Amino acid sequence: MDGMTLFLILIIPTIIIGAYAQHKITSTYNKWVKVPSRGGITGREAADAVMRKAGVHGVDIVETRGHLTDHYDPMNKRLVLSSENFHGTSLAALGVAAHEAGHAIQHKVGYAALKARMALVPVTNIASQMLPFVIIGGFFFQMLGLIKLGVLVYLVLTIFQLIPLPVEFDASRRAKKELVGIGIIEQDELVGVEKTLNAAAFTYVAAFISSLAHLVWLILLTRR
Ligand SMILES: [Zn+2]
Repeated sequence: MDGMTLFLILIIPTIIIGAYAQHKITSTYNKWVKVPSRGGITGREAADAVMRKAGVHGVDIVETRGHLTDHYDPMNKRLVLSSENFHGTSLAALGVAAHEAGHAIQHKVGYAALKARMALVPVTNIASQMLPFVIIGGFFFQMLGLIKLGVLVYLVLTIFQLIPLPVEFDASRRAKKELVGIGIIEQDELVGVEKTLNAAAFTYVAAFISSLAHLVWLILLTRR
């Protein structure tokens, strides 16, 4: 098989999966952000309640601009929610807010995969910035050693891409359990939370699939 065929077989599907994942999170979020929870509690209040129940203290909940920019910042112990989810009372807003609170709980209890993810962030950032130059340089100068080094780095990065998966699924699991447990939502409202969080988690799965396909592609290219 030539390089182009390999590209078509391996890379094009991952581009489609990635686009589908983006479409899925956007459409799912847009659907459930329109469905208010009956309790009328805001995302900020929900995150606060979930953390308080778990004994997490000293984490500031702050509002940020942008769409789905929500995240937990372990370095500064800040739970950052987009305006829509900070003020919103929708099932999507509660799901996202409680999910981020789930990360704060993971941080507090010393959840191993979260610790690994935090430790690997600087390594991964540097490696993924260097990598394209290493590989392109290797192909350009026909330096097999350099290409092999690039592939090795890519292999490590791909393995690292697995780490967010348990972290994300665990945060969502905690979110669903606590939202119902505390009584912020009722059991029948869980579907909106679940759909939103599953769609969000799928973007991480898609990123891993993409990495894996690129890795296989690189390995096959260097084998020839
Ligand atoms: Zn998350």
